[in-house]
Amino acid sequence: MNKWIQEALEQGRSLLETEAWALLSDYGLAMPRHKLVKSAGEAASAAAEIGYPVVLKIVSRDIVHKSDAGGVRVGLGDSASVEAAYAGILDSVASHAPDARVEGILVSEMLPSGGTECIIGMTWDPSFGPALMVGLGGVFVEVLKDVSFRVLPLSEADALAMIGELKGAALLRGVRGQKPRDVKALAQALVKVAKLVEENPQIKEIDINPCIVYETGAVPVDARIIL
Ligand code: ADP
Ligand code: MG
Repeated sequence: MNKWIQEALEQGRSLLETEAWALLSDYGLAMPRHKLVKSAGEAASAAAEIGYPVVLKIVSRDIVHKSDAGGVRVGLGDSASVEAAYAGILDSVASHAPDARVEGILVSEMLPSGGTECIIGMTWDPSFGPALMVGLGGVFVEVLKDVSFRVLPLSEADALAMIGELKGAALLRGVRGQKPRDVKALAQALVKVAKLVEENPQIKEIDINPCIVYETGAVPVDARIIL
């Protein structure tokens, strides 16, 4: 069994975001440069190593929607903002979720704007087992429920077909003079997640929201893996 999964199961919890990132990166997904830190000073040195701008996020087994708890700060451009964001996150989390256990704060590379936010997910279908899901992020998934599903096994051709079924697929192909997005990279990311699911039956649910798809490449910036 994978060592992060085993350790988490022994502790009766799901994967921490940092562990989910490590697992995804083991399966070949391109994750942002990052470091888990435990003080404002450490956060500033990590940011300097990673390169500005950075994003800071709370890492807690008890917090699922980090933004709702005031646990995410994006676009931090210097050490003073990083240190202030570190303290600000801990303050917000202390008032929104006073009992949450905090593992630390994740400092990560801030990806450039101009990509299209997509989601990749996995849920268990009662009759077919694990099913992969893809969708466009934000209002597309929240309001329009524009997602498509496939059961395993998943080939790259299956993944491309899934993406093609989205009502918003045109947004990825390039509309109104926008350059087409790297649909192949998104399809390959789906295939890698499918392999992760096949090889680790302890995983009950995956929620990558968003995976940002650029003209070249697709990079997950938020990942939740439930055991
Ligand atoms: P939540 O738990 O609230 O979903 P996320 O990690 O998804 O937290 O962060 C909230 C939003 O911030 C994301 O939907 C994305 O738009 C933006 N974001 C987060 N991390 C990054 C990053 N590394 N680069 C660029 N944008 C990011
Ligand atoms: Mg998210």
